[in-house]
Amino acid sequence: YERKKVLVLGAGYAGLSTVSKLQKIIGVQEADITLINKNEYHYEATWLHETAAGSMNWEEGVYPIAKVVDNMKVRFIPAEVTKIDRDAQVVETTQGEFSFDTLVVALGFESESFGIKGMDEFATTIVSPETAVRTREEIEQNFINYKTSKDSKDLSILVGGAGFTGVEFLGELVETLPELCKVHGIDYNQVKITCVEAMPTMLPMFSEELTQHAVNFLESRGVEFMLGTAIVAANENGFVVKVNDEEKQLEASSVVWTAGVRGSRLMEESFEGVKRGRIVVKDDLTIDGYPNIFAIGDVAAVMNGTGENARPYPTTAQIAMQLGEHTAKNIKLKLNGEKMEPFAYDDKGTVCSLGAKDGIGVVLGREIKGKPAAFMKKVIDTRAVLKIGGAVLGVTKGKFL
Ligand code: NAD
Repeated sequence: YERKKVLVLGAGYAGLSTVSKLQKIIGVQEADITLINKNEYHYEATWLHETAAGSMNWEEGVYPIAKVVDNMKVRFIPAEVTKIDRDAQVVETTQGEFSFDTLVVALGFESESFGIKGMDEFATTIVSPETAVRTREEIEQNFINYKTSKDSKDLSILVGGAGFTGVEFLGELVETLPELCKVHGIDYNQVKITCVEAMPTMLPMFSEELTQHAVNFLESRGVEFMLGTAIVAANENGFVVKVNDEEKQLEASSVVWTAGVRGSRLMEESFEGVKRGRIVVKDDLTIDGYPNIFAIGDVAAVMNGTGENARPYPTTAQIAMQLGEHTAKNIKLKLNGEKMEPFAYDDKGTVCSLGAKDGIGVVLGREIKGKPAAFMKKVIDTRAVLKIGGAVLGVTKGKFL
């Protein structure tokens, strides 16, 4: 009798939720569970904008995976996945090969610059602790340079995209930059923050009232929005944008791209029918034709609705954690030879923070803004740590007011 091999790739919200739940519901004898992740730590991807703006050190938003996994049931291997062979049922990594009976692909997201010229070279991003730290360091270095250059470009920051990441990043920036200015003896009024968004409206998922609250909050603190303006290139001077068919150079030394993400590039190399790193999954969260391979989190397109009207749910930490828990339950059913269950998303709402003290959101169907939204955001952030890491990590990493 051999224990079935369950292999989980990625320890983000989706993968780590799978393992955390699985080790609670199955016995030591039931399966041989292996978790593979690039880093030895899990990072809170939803807190990265805070690191990028300097409100939080990156170490505060991470915890060791070893603190979450139960060594009796799970083997954790810090390694980078280099290849998935779905038919041979083998995964190649920088620490050797691993075969599986059941595979959970939860390899997360990367930045997507849509082939825009110069973007990868000239803009920083906010997609990992490393990139968030680089974004922060670049802004600070340019402020330091300003003291000798006196070039207004060094105090100019361009943010590409007014999606959730862009807006949450701006919310932190207007809180931290006045402090940074004080440290370096710079007048905050000299700082220019411009956010460029291709669509004529921003944050379309919220009501006009909520969006206006966010815009007013940011504009009153010096942010300038350029809506209906597409970024077509990036260079050493900033962004090139297009308005009414005319190209224009926007100048800044600090250039941040928050206008696109995609699932792991390994997805295209490993599966068919993958778009922007995401593969459509069946309602039990497995891939069509591969009942032993689950894809969850940012590498999965989980459909809302059926037929022509079906649209993938947006990729969020909230859905990723639910997908992870559901996958654990389905693996347990599968091990018992029972029928797997369809996933049903329980949308608890969304909050977009504006720094530590403000925000907008819809929670359990009710609109909130201002302090209550900021409070809810901290509750949500703490809940994520508690749900995956348990009480001990919740106490050390939670955000208490
Ligand atoms: P996004 O794709 O949601 O937003 C990117 C924005 O950039 C869009 O508004 C888009 O119109 C704009 N854009 C794209 N190309 C452009 C161009 N060439 N020029 C100008 N503007 C351009 O990306 P995101 O904000 O990083 O969010 C990614 C996912 O993560 C989403 O599913 C989001 O819901 C989720 N998220 C949620 C939260 C939250 O719940 N608080 C926070 C962050 C991210």
